[in-house]
Amino acid sequence: MSEYAEKIRGIAKKLLDDGTVDMVIGFRKGTMPLINEPCFVKDAAKVDALIWDSSCGVNLANYLPKRKEKIGVVAKGCDSRNIVTHIVENQITREQLYIIGVPCTGMVDRRKVRLAVGKEILSVSEADGKITVTGDGYEEVLDKQEMLQDNCAICVHRNPVISDEVIADPVEEQTDVDRYADVKAVEAMAPEARWNHFEQLLDGCIRCYACRNACPLCYCPTCFVDESQPQWVGKSVDKTDTRTFHFLRAYHCAGRCTDCGACERACPVGIPVRQFTKKLEKDCKELFDWEAGMSLDVRPPLDTYRPEDPDEFIK
Ligand code: SF4
Ligand code: SF4
Ligand code: SF4
Repeated sequence: MSEYAEKIRGIAKKLLDDGTVDMVIGFRKGTMPLINEPCFVKDAAKVDALIWDSSCGVNLANYLPKRKEKIGVVAKGCDSRNIVTHIVENQITREQLYIIGVPCTGMVDRRKVRLAVGKEILSVSEADGKITVTGDGYEEVLDKQEMLQDNCAICVHRNPVISDEVIADPVEEQTDVDRYADVKAVEAMAPEARWNHFEQLLDGCIRCYACRNACPLCYCPTCFVDESQPQWVGKSVDKTDTRTFHFLRAYHCAGRCTDCGACERACPVGIPVRQFTKKLEKDCKELFDWEAGMSLDVRPPLDTYRPEDPDEFIK
Protein backbone atom coordinates (compact mmCIF):
# COMPACT_ATOMS: atom_id res chain seq x y z
CA MET A 1 0.00 0.00 0.00
CA SER A 2 2.97 2.38 0.36
CA GLU A 3 3.03 2.80 -3.42
CA TYR A 4 -0.58 4.05 -3.16
CA ALA A 5 0.56 6.65 -0.59
CA GLU A 6 3.46 7.73 -2.82
CA LYS A 7 1.11 8.15 -5.74
CA ILE A 8 -1.41 10.17 -3.70
CA ARG A 9 1.36 12.45 -2.37
CA GLY A 10 2.74 13.01 -5.88
CA ILE A 11 -0.67 13.95 -7.29
CA ALA A 12 -1.47 16.18 -4.30
CA LYS A 13 1.85 18.01 -4.65
CA LYS A 14 1.29 18.60 -8.35
CA LEU A 15 -2.27 19.85 -7.83
CA LEU A 16 -1.27 22.26 -5.05
CA ASP A 17 1.87 23.45 -6.82
CA ASP A 18 0.13 24.32 -10.08
CA GLY A 19 -2.94 25.79 -8.36
CA THR A 20 -5.41 23.24 -9.76
CA VAL A 21 -6.85 22.97 -6.25
CA ASP A 22 -6.74 25.00 -3.03
CA MET A 23 -6.77 21.95 -0.80
CA VAL A 24 -6.41 18.17 -0.95
CA ILE A 25 -8.49 15.99 1.37
CA GLY A 26 -6.95 12.60 2.10
CA PHE A 27 -5.90 10.56 5.11
CA ARG A 28 -3.17 10.83 7.73
CA LYS A 29 -2.07 8.29 10.32
CA GLY A 30 -4.47 8.18 13.27
CA THR A 31 -3.37 8.57 16.87
CA MET A 32 -4.68 5.03 17.49
CA PRO A 33 -3.89 1.98 15.37
CA LEU A 34 -6.57 1.00 12.82
CA ILE A 35 -8.24 4.44 12.76
CA ASN A 36 -6.76 6.85 10.24
CA GLU A 37 -7.99 10.42 10.18
CA PRO A 38 -9.06 12.84 7.47
CA CYS A 39 -6.23 15.18 6.49
CA PHE A 40 -6.69 18.59 4.85
CA VAL A 41 -3.52 19.65 3.04
CA LYS A 42 -3.25 23.21 1.70
CA ASP A 43 0.52 23.46 1.41
CA ALA A 44 2.44 21.36 -1.14
CA ALA A 45 5.31 21.09 1.38
CA LYS A 46 3.04 19.10 3.70
CA VAL A 47 1.83 16.32 1.39
CA ASP A 48 4.04 13.77 3.16
CA ALA A 49 1.37 13.61 5.87
CA LEU A 50 -0.88 11.79 3.39
CA ILE A 51 -1.00 8.01 3.74
CA TRP A 52 -3.00 5.04 2.50
CA ASP A 53 -3.76 1.65 4.04
CA SER A 54 -6.76 -0.47 5.00
CA SER A 55 -7.77 1.80 7.88
CA CYS A 56 -8.94 4.66 5.64
CA GLY A 57 -12.63 3.85 6.11
CA VAL A 58 -13.86 7.39 6.77
CA ASN A 59 -15.96 8.58 3.83
CA LEU A 60 -14.26 11.79 2.69
CA ALA A 61 -17.32 12.90 0.71
CA ASN A 62 -18.59 13.95 4.14
CA TYR A 63 -16.32 17.02 3.98
CA LEU A 64 -17.53 18.39 0.65
CA PRO A 65 -21.03 19.87 0.99
CA LYS A 66 -21.25 23.65 0.63
CA ARG A 67 -17.46 24.07 0.12
CA LYS A 68 -16.49 26.99 -2.09
CA GLU A 69 -12.82 26.08 -2.76
CA LYS A 70 -11.37 23.89 -5.48
CA ILE A 71 -10.69 20.57 -3.81
CA GLY A 72 -8.67 17.49 -4.58
CA VAL A 73 -10.29 14.54 -2.85
CA VAL A 74 -9.13 10.95 -2.40
CA ALA A 75 -12.01 8.61 -3.26
CA LYS A 76 -12.56 4.88 -2.89
CA GLY A 77 -15.45 3.28 -4.79
CA CYS A 78 -18.04 4.15 -2.14
CA ASP A 79 -16.70 7.68 -1.60
CA SER A 80 -16.88 8.32 -5.34
CA ARG A 81 -20.56 7.30 -5.36
CA ASN A 82 -21.29 9.67 -2.49
CA ILE A 83 -19.48 12.41 -4.41
CA VAL A 84 -21.78 11.75 -7.37
CA THR A 85 -24.75 12.02 -5.02
CA HIS A 86 -23.46 15.34 -3.67
CA ILE A 87 -23.07 16.72 -7.18
CA VAL A 88 -26.55 15.51 -8.21
CA GLU A 89 -28.00 17.06 -5.03
CA ASN A 90 -26.20 20.38 -5.72
CA GLN A 91 -23.97 20.23 -2.65
CA ILE A 92 -20.84 20.87 -4.69
CA THR A 93 -20.05 21.25 -8.39
CA ARG A 94 -18.09 18.82 -10.53
CA GLU A 95 -15.86 21.71 -11.64
CA GLN A 96 -14.71 22.35 -8.07
CA LEU A 97 -13.39 18.82 -7.67
CA TYR A 98 -10.32 16.92 -8.72
CA ILE A 99 -11.12 13.34 -7.78
CA ILE A 100 -8.12 11.11 -7.00
CA GLY A 101 -9.59 7.63 -7.48
CA VAL A 102 -8.36 4.72 -5.38
CA PRO A 103 -9.22 1.16 -6.47
CA CYS A 104 -10.09 -0.35 -3.10
CA THR A 105 -9.50 -3.81 -1.67
CA GLY A 106 -11.62 -3.20 1.41
CA MET A 107 -11.21 -1.65 4.83
CA VAL A 108 -10.32 -3.55 7.95
CA ASP A 109 -12.79 -3.71 10.84
CA ARG A 110 -10.88 -2.68 13.97
CA ARG A 111 -13.35 -4.51 16.19
CA LYS A 112 -12.76 -7.81 14.37
CA VAL A 113 -9.00 -7.34 14.69
CA ARG A 114 -9.24 -6.54 18.40
CA LEU A 115 -11.45 -9.57 18.95
CA ALA A 116 -9.05 -11.80 17.01
CA VAL A 117 -5.96 -10.80 19.01
CA GLY A 118 -7.66 -10.16 22.35
CA LYS A 119 -4.82 -7.94 23.56
CA GLU A 120 -3.85 -4.30 23.42
CA ILE A 121 -2.72 -3.37 19.91
CA LEU A 122 0.24 -1.03 19.64
CA SER A 123 0.93 -1.09 15.91
CA VAL A 124 -0.42 -2.56 12.69
CA SER A 125 1.16 -3.03 9.28
CA GLU A 126 -0.01 -4.78 6.12
CA ALA A 127 1.41 -6.45 3.04
CA ASP A 128 0.31 -9.09 0.54
CA GLY A 129 -3.18 -9.50 1.97
CA LYS A 130 -1.92 -9.98 5.53
CA ILE A 131 -2.31 -7.71 8.56
CA THR A 132 0.51 -7.87 11.11
CA VAL A 133 -0.53 -6.78 14.58
CA THR A 134 2.01 -6.16 17.31
CA GLY A 135 1.71 -5.38 21.00
CA ASP A 136 3.54 -5.87 24.26
CA GLY A 137 5.47 -9.11 23.73
CA TYR A 138 3.44 -10.47 20.82
CA GLU A 139 3.07 -10.35 17.05
CA GLU A 140 0.14 -11.87 15.18
CA VAL A 141 -0.48 -12.17 11.45
CA LEU A 142 -4.10 -12.10 10.26
CA ASP A 143 -5.71 -12.66 6.87
CA LYS A 144 -7.05 -9.26 5.72
CA GLN A 145 -10.01 -10.84 3.91
CA GLU A 146 -11.29 -12.29 7.21
CA MET A 147 -10.94 -8.92 8.97
CA LEU A 148 -12.87 -6.80 6.45
CA GLN A 149 -15.72 -4.55 7.50
CA ASP A 150 -19.02 -6.33 6.79
CA ASN A 151 -19.93 -3.83 4.06
CA CYS A 152 -16.55 -4.23 2.35
CA ALA A 153 -16.88 -8.02 2.35
CA ILE A 154 -19.98 -7.69 0.15
CA CYS A 155 -19.00 -4.57 -1.83
CA VAL A 156 -19.46 -4.81 -5.60
CA HIS A 157 -18.28 -1.30 -6.52
CA ARG A 158 -14.71 -1.12 -5.29
CA ASN A 159 -13.43 0.93 -8.20
CA PRO A 160 -14.28 4.64 -8.32
CA VAL A 161 -17.22 5.39 -10.63
CA ILE A 162 -15.94 8.92 -11.27
CA SER A 163 -12.41 10.33 -11.13
CA ASP A 164 -9.94 12.69 -12.75
CA GLU A 165 -7.02 10.39 -12.11
CA VAL A 166 -6.81 6.86 -10.75
CA ILE A 167 -3.74 5.85 -8.75
CA ALA A 168 -3.62 2.17 -9.78
CA ASP A 169 -5.10 -0.40 -12.12
CA PRO A 170 -8.71 -1.36 -11.37
CA VAL A 171 -9.23 -4.11 -8.80
CA GLU A 172 -11.41 -7.08 -9.64
CA GLU A 173 -15.02 -6.50 -8.60
CA GLN A 174 -16.68 -9.15 -6.45
CA THR A 175 -19.49 -11.00 -8.20
CA ASP A 176 -20.13 -14.02 -5.97
CA VAL A 177 -21.46 -12.23 -2.90
CA ASP A 178 -25.00 -12.13 -1.52
CA ARG A 179 -25.32 -8.46 -0.64
CA TYR A 180 -28.63 -8.79 1.15
CA ALA A 181 -28.43 -12.08 3.07
CA ASP A 182 -28.94 -10.30 6.42
CA VAL A 183 -31.88 -8.24 5.10
CA LYS A 184 -33.54 -11.36 3.68
CA ALA A 185 -33.17 -13.11 7.04
CA VAL A 186 -35.01 -10.23 8.75
CA GLU A 187 -37.67 -10.09 6.01
CA ALA A 188 -38.35 -13.80 6.57
CA MET A 189 -39.13 -13.26 10.27
CA ALA A 190 -42.66 -13.18 11.63
CA PRO A 191 -43.74 -9.64 12.61
CA GLU A 192 -43.25 -10.20 16.35
CA ALA A 193 -39.80 -11.72 15.89
CA ARG A 194 -38.85 -8.85 13.57
CA TRP A 195 -39.99 -6.31 16.13
CA ASN A 196 -37.93 -8.05 18.83
CA HIS A 197 -34.95 -8.18 16.49
CA PHE A 198 -34.96 -4.42 16.02
CA GLU A 199 -35.64 -3.78 19.71
CA GLN A 200 -32.54 -5.78 20.58
CA LEU A 201 -30.54 -4.22 17.77
CA LEU A 202 -31.16 -0.72 19.12
CA ASP A 203 -30.96 -1.65 22.77
CA GLY A 204 -27.53 -0.14 23.43
CA CYS A 205 -27.99 3.06 21.39
CA ILE A 206 -26.92 6.09 23.44
CA ARG A 207 -28.17 8.66 20.87
CA CYS A 208 -24.70 10.10 20.38
CA TYR A 209 -25.41 10.69 16.66
CA ALA A 210 -21.95 9.56 15.61
CA CYS A 211 -23.63 7.45 12.87
CA ARG A 212 -25.37 10.54 11.55
CA ASN A 213 -22.29 12.74 11.78
CA ALA A 214 -20.11 10.24 9.89
CA CYS A 215 -22.60 9.91 7.03
CA PRO A 216 -22.03 12.08 3.96
CA LEU A 217 -25.78 12.07 3.30
CA CYS A 218 -26.60 13.86 6.58
CA TYR A 219 -25.75 17.41 5.60
CA CYS A 220 -28.99 19.24 6.56
CA PRO A 221 -28.13 22.51 8.34
CA THR A 222 -30.47 21.47 11.16
CA CYS A 223 -31.14 17.77 11.51
CA PHE A 224 -34.72 16.80 12.38
CA VAL A 225 -33.47 15.43 15.73
CA ASP A 226 -32.19 18.87 16.68
CA GLU A 227 -35.33 20.77 15.68
CA SER A 228 -37.34 22.10 18.60
CA GLN A 229 -40.06 24.03 16.71
CA PRO A 230 -41.69 21.72 15.85
CA GLN A 231 -40.05 18.92 17.77
CA TRP A 232 -40.08 15.82 15.57
CA VAL A 233 -38.55 13.44 18.07
CA GLY A 234 -37.75 13.51 21.79
CA LYS A 235 -34.17 13.82 22.98
CA SER A 236 -34.18 10.92 25.41
CA VAL A 237 -33.01 7.33 25.02
CA ASP A 238 -36.61 6.25 25.43
CA LYS A 239 -37.17 3.35 23.05
CA THR A 240 -39.78 5.20 20.98
CA ASP A 241 -37.52 8.23 20.50
CA THR A 242 -34.56 6.05 19.60
CA ARG A 243 -36.57 4.04 17.09
CA THR A 244 -37.98 7.21 15.54
CA PHE A 245 -34.49 8.62 15.08
CA HIS A 246 -33.22 5.49 13.35
CA PHE A 247 -36.25 4.91 11.15
CA LEU A 248 -36.41 8.53 10.01
CA ARG A 249 -32.67 8.72 9.40
CA ALA A 250 -32.80 5.54 7.34
CA TYR A 251 -35.67 6.88 5.22
CA HIS A 252 -33.70 10.08 4.61
CA CYS A 253 -30.99 7.84 3.13
CA ALA A 254 -33.35 5.89 0.84
CA GLY A 255 -31.98 5.76 -2.71
CA ARG A 256 -28.88 7.69 -1.58
CA CYS A 257 -26.97 5.27 0.66
CA THR A 258 -23.90 3.65 -0.90
CA ASP A 259 -23.34 1.18 1.96
CA CYS A 260 -19.99 2.81 2.66
CA GLY A 261 -20.19 1.65 6.28
CA ALA A 262 -19.06 4.96 7.79
CA CYS A 263 -22.10 5.03 10.09
CA GLU A 264 -21.41 1.58 11.48
CA ARG A 265 -17.67 2.25 11.90
CA ALA A 266 -18.43 5.38 13.90
CA CYS A 267 -20.84 3.79 16.37
CA PRO A 268 -19.09 3.58 19.75
CA VAL A 269 -21.25 0.69 20.91
CA GLY A 270 -21.13 -1.39 17.71
CA ILE A 271 -24.76 -1.19 16.58
CA PRO A 272 -25.18 -2.59 13.04
CA VAL A 273 -27.14 0.43 11.80
CA ARG A 274 -26.64 -0.57 8.17
CA GLN A 275 -29.44 -3.09 8.63
CA PHE A 276 -31.92 -0.23 8.20
CA THR A 277 -30.31 1.42 5.20
CA LYS A 278 -29.57 -1.89 3.48
CA LYS A 279 -33.25 -2.80 3.48
CA LEU A 280 -34.00 0.43 1.66
CA GLU A 281 -31.05 -0.10 -0.67
CA LYS A 282 -32.43 -3.54 -1.54
CA ASP A 283 -35.93 -2.13 -2.11
CA CYS A 284 -34.58 0.58 -4.42
CA LYS A 285 -32.70 -2.03 -6.41
CA GLU A 286 -35.73 -4.31 -6.72
CA LEU A 287 -38.38 -1.65 -7.29
CA PHE A 288 -36.49 0.87 -9.42
CA ASP A 289 -33.33 -0.99 -10.53
CA TRP A 290 -31.47 1.82 -8.77
CA GLU A 291 -28.10 1.96 -7.07
CA ALA A 292 -27.06 5.27 -5.53
CA GLY A 293 -24.31 7.41 -7.00
CA MET A 294 -23.54 5.44 -10.15
CA SER A 295 -24.11 8.23 -12.68
CA LEU A 296 -24.21 12.02 -12.86
CA ASP A 297 -26.79 11.83 -15.64
CA VAL A 298 -29.66 9.91 -14.03
CA ARG A 299 -32.00 11.46 -11.47
CA PRO A 300 -32.57 9.46 -8.25
CA PRO A 301 -35.81 7.46 -7.99
CA LEU A 302 -37.27 9.62 -5.25
CA ASP A 303 -37.21 12.78 -7.36
CA THR A 304 -38.55 11.31 -10.58
CA TYR A 305 -41.79 9.71 -11.64
CA ARG A 306 -42.41 7.18 -14.42
CA PRO A 307 -45.88 5.90 -15.29
CA GLU A 308 -44.63 2.33 -14.87
CA ASP A 309 -43.30 2.92 -11.34
CA PRO A 310 -44.67 0.45 -8.78
CA ASP A 311 -47.60 2.15 -7.05
CA GLU A 312 -49.50 -0.68 -5.37
CA PHE A 313 -48.87 0.92 -2.00
CA ILE A 314 -51.11 3.95 -2.71
CA LYS A 315 -54.14 1.99 -3.85
S1 SF4 B 1 -17.46 -0.27 0.60
FE1 SF4 B 1 -16.27 -0.95 -1.18
S2 SF4 B 1 -15.22 0.86 -1.96
FE2 SF4 B 1 -15.95 1.34 0.11
S3 SF4 B 1 -14.25 0.90 1.47
FE3 SF4 B 1 -15.47 -0.99 1.37
S4 SF4 B 1 -14.64 -2.20 -0.33
FE4 SF4 B 1 -13.83 -0.11 -0.50
S1 SF4 C 1 -26.13 5.58 5.81
FE1 SF4 C 1 -24.15 4.70 6.47
S2 SF4 C 1 -23.61 3.31 4.80
FE2 SF4 C 1 -25.17 4.71 3.98
S3 SF4 C 1 -24.04 6.41 3.03
FE3 SF4 C 1 -24.49 7.00 5.17
S4 SF4 C 1 -22.67 6.38 6.32
FE4 SF4 C 1 -22.59 5.30 4.35
S1 SF4 D 1 -23.59 5.97 16.65
FE1 SF4 D 1 -24.48 4.16 17.62
S2 SF4 D 1 -24.98 4.81 19.70
FE2 SF4 D 1 -24.63 6.67 18.51
S3 SF4 D 1 -26.71 7.24 17.79
FE3 SF4 D 1 -25.78 5.98 16.18
S4 SF4 D 1 -26.48 3.88 16.63
FE4 SF4 D 1 -26.82 5.11 18.48
